[in-house]
Amino acid sequence: MNSAPHEPTRRIAVIGGGISGLAAAHRLVELQPAANVTLFEASHRLGGVLETIRRDGYLIERSADMFTTKDPWALDLCRRVGLADQLLNTNEAFRRAFVVHRGKLVPVPEGFTLMSPAKMLPVLKTPLLSWRGKARLAWERFVPRRDEADESLHDFAVRRLGREVYDRLVQPLIGGIYTADPTKLSMQAAMPEFVAMEKEFGNLTRGVREKAVKTNREGTGARYGMFVGLREGMGSLVDAIARRLPEGCVQLNSPIQSIRRAENHWQLTLDGESERRDFDALILAAPAPHAAALLQEVDSRLADELATIQYASAAVPMLGYRRDQITHPLDGFGFVVPIVERRQILSGSFTSIKFPGRAPDGSVLFRVFIGGACQEELVGLPDDELYEIAQRELAELLGVRGEPQVRELVRWNHAMPQYHLGHLDRVAKIEQIASDLPAFALAGNAYRGVGIPFCVRSGELAAEHVSAGGG
Ligand SMILES: Cc1cc2nc3c(=O)[nH]c(=O)nc-3n(C[C@H](O)[C@H](O)[C@H](O)COP(=O)(O)OP(=O)(O)OC[C@H]3O[C@@H](n4cnc5c(N)ncnc54)[C@H](O)[C@@H]3O)c2cc1C
Repeated sequence: MNSAPHEPTRRIAVIGGGISGLAAAHRLVELQPAANVTLFEASHRLGGVLETIRRDGYLIERSADMFTTKDPWALDLCRRVGLADQLLNTNEAFRRAFVVHRGKLVPVPEGFTLMSPAKMLPVLKTPLLSWRGKARLAWERFVPRRDEADESLHDFAVRRLGREVYDRLVQPLIGGIYTADPTKLSMQAAMPEFVAMEKEFGNLTRGVREKAVKTNREGTGARYGMFVGLREGMGSLVDAIARRLPEGCVQLNSPIQSIRRAENHWQLTLDGESERRDFDALILAAPAPHAAALLQEVDSRLADELATIQYASAAVPMLGYRRDQITHPLDGFGFVVPIVERRQILSGSFTSIKFPGRAPDGSVLFRVFIGGACQEELVGLPDDELYEIAQRELAELLGVRGEPQVRELVRWNHAMPQYHLGHLDRVAKIEQIASDLPAFALAGNAYRGVGIPFCVRSGELAAEHVSAGGG
């Protein structure tokens, strides 16, 4: 809606320049070109956890390297900011993942999605499961449906599929995505499609098969055909959005220190400044603990609810080797490690196999994930020890020899929100309290999805809410 000539320009602040805040600012500019939008980012650069770096011919993603197209919002945003021709499919030749089993890499059985098999034969043949485990999985269709209010990933998967399938497949495949403690991870919040499947079809065996027939799905594990990356990395999405924002909109090195609600507007104070800045509307797209601290004075109930959302940390060593240093054929996209294997890493990704061209010819780029909610203590180890763990694990699992050509390390401290049991109820309460605040919305990965598409959607919905005069 454009302002009428006599109306003052609407001033809207967005706090947080990760993908959620960027999507919010971009949508505001689309909806209200005449508004004065300011995006405050605490650090020296935009993108939050998203960052792409280049070193010695390697293209290295420091966090996300792809997103799903099943939920369309990120794909749609890429198209709107002119990146349609930059979308990159995953390498069709090797669309599969491995699971570590007794120290060896074994492929996830073909057709096994995150929870259940679309085909039974590959499961019957896999060395990942004993006959007892396979029989228990085949029995899944007879396990009675149960209407739980919410259930942990552990309880749901053990109840429906049996302990062995949980330990050997479900925990590593899903735990790897959420870096979560599976005894606390909410099924309703993290894997709602499987909860819905049990409700609709009575069991997952039938549900997964019917869905697979409908969508003609291929691949295993993460269903790689539904994911895309960007040719120049996720940093190019951040840059493309930033280029579309009006001059002066982005304020880097600008941590917001306090928020106050004045009579009919919002007042923000930047760290180190005494002067307050006034805004007519506000989108808060900072992580939940930061949002909680900022909102304490505005609404302590809201702040207290936000403060209950917990976060996990991870360290990601990224290592580039010559191909002739590696004995494994690398005929997949990477591997996940079950907790029962008692190793020091969560997973490893063959990044330049998944997206060819991300390492120089004759070289390979790996990303190794360490920590998460179940091994958080490892994240604080010194850099050298983290590299040592990664190199030792790659040597044992893939036969990698010698020193890497390139190495990089990133620690993501408290960067991954944990969707614990009851998360959706908590979010509903947060949204309800937030909706009572005038011209205000929250956005970010803490609420209704951690993946990039959900962050984009949360930012865009926040923009639509405040543009419609919401609150
Ligand atoms: C290692 C890793 C791998 C991942 N892999 C994938 C993947 O493959 N696919 C996928 O879809 N998703 C993936 N994700 C998840 C996804 O990348 C994130 O959920 C998403 O990027 C988070 O965006 P955000 O804007 O909500 O938060 P953030 O990126 O955390 O941004 C929040 C921003 O707010 C700023 N801020 C905080 N406080 C203030 C303040 N007071 N004032 C101003 N600014 C402030 C911060 O500096 C930061 O820039 C991954 C995440 C990680 C960590």
